[in-house]
Amino acid sequence: MKRPSLPLMKSLLISFFLATATLGPLRAADTLDFYVIDTEGGKAVIVVPPGGETMLVDAGYPTPDNRDTNRIVAAGQALGITRFDYMVATHYDMDHAGNIPSVDAKIPGRTFVDHGAILPTANAQNKREFYEPYLKAIGGRPRLIVHPGDTIPLKGVRITVVSAGGEVLAQPLPGAGQHNEFAGDAKPEPLDIYDNAASVGLLYEFGKFRLLDLADLLQRVEYKLMVPDNRVGTVDVFMVSHHGFKVSNSRLLVHALRPKVAIMNNGPRKGGEPQVFDVLQGSPGFQDLWQLHFSPAAGRKNAPVDFIANPGAACEAKLIKVSACRDGSFTVTNTRNNFSKTYQP
Ligand SMILES: [Zn+2]
Repeated sequence: MKRPSLPLMKSLLISFFLATATLGPLRAADTLDFYVIDTEGGKAVIVVPPGGETMLVDAGYPTPDNRDTNRIVAAGQALGITRFDYMVATHYDMDHAGNIPSVDAKIPGRTFVDHGAILPTANAQNKREFYEPYLKAIGGRPRLIVHPGDTIPLKGVRITVVSAGGEVLAQPLPGAGQHNEFAGDAKPEPLDIYDNAASVGLLYEFGKFRLLDLADLLQRVEYKLMVPDNRVGTVDVFMVSHHGFKVSNSRLLVHALRPKVAIMNNGPRKGGEPQVFDVLQGSPGFQDLWQLHFSPAAGRKNAPVDFIANPGAACEAKLIKVSACRDGSFTVTNTRNNFSKTYQP
């Protein structure tokens, strides 16, 4: 009998892998899941929509003991992830893009997503220590430079870029564009010497569910996005920007978004500023704040302990999971104590 030709063998093999990837061990549920990993005041989120593709947004801090790499890899392996289809560098700061090469060496990325060149106002250290090594790590693999209005083609979820490189959506998204009644109290903070203002901000839409994650976007860029008209619309979940620093998270942003729930990626001694707690807890329709850490600076404004993944001085690196359904309902889980709460559409 004639052996199958090489191209035929190849296509058979590819179909086999596609079939196993679709049915694969990753998960069967028709939910959009976010795993907000504790990187002690950095950022790292694993995004798992239905269908088998996955995305990593930022990779925490680079440290000699590979602390955050080990945490991200452990979470990825527990989910059966052997490759991230998209690896997003929201911006070129140490606690975001700085550790991507290290994670990529353990669980490789397929396509890398970023905002393009580092801001000219960013300091030389960021360029030398984080931006250039990130580019070097990508090597010859695909790189997707995104602009506001673009989408990231991760299968199973709609992801729209709302900010990138300091620019924002030129037009409101469908259904958005309402006049922002909170615009009056704007006092935009100045640009800093880092790459925060260039953050890639992402809106996730899954059926009726909406989640916004602006990474470390600064108030002056929030202003461009939300004034005079709100170009994003409302969201169910707001990933608190910039670890809960008040140079981000302006009232005109948060209150116009009207989130039910917010998740703060603060560290034990980073971010979590009391002014941001005030903005969140005063937001119309706001129900709950979930925190990666207790914030000493915020004192009694902290969420109840069940909503805090790592409340004690001895950090256990517990993560927070968000699992969303197409009807707009979603469940948030604190993996420290398995306390969870479901929010209805
Ligand atoms: Zn940061």
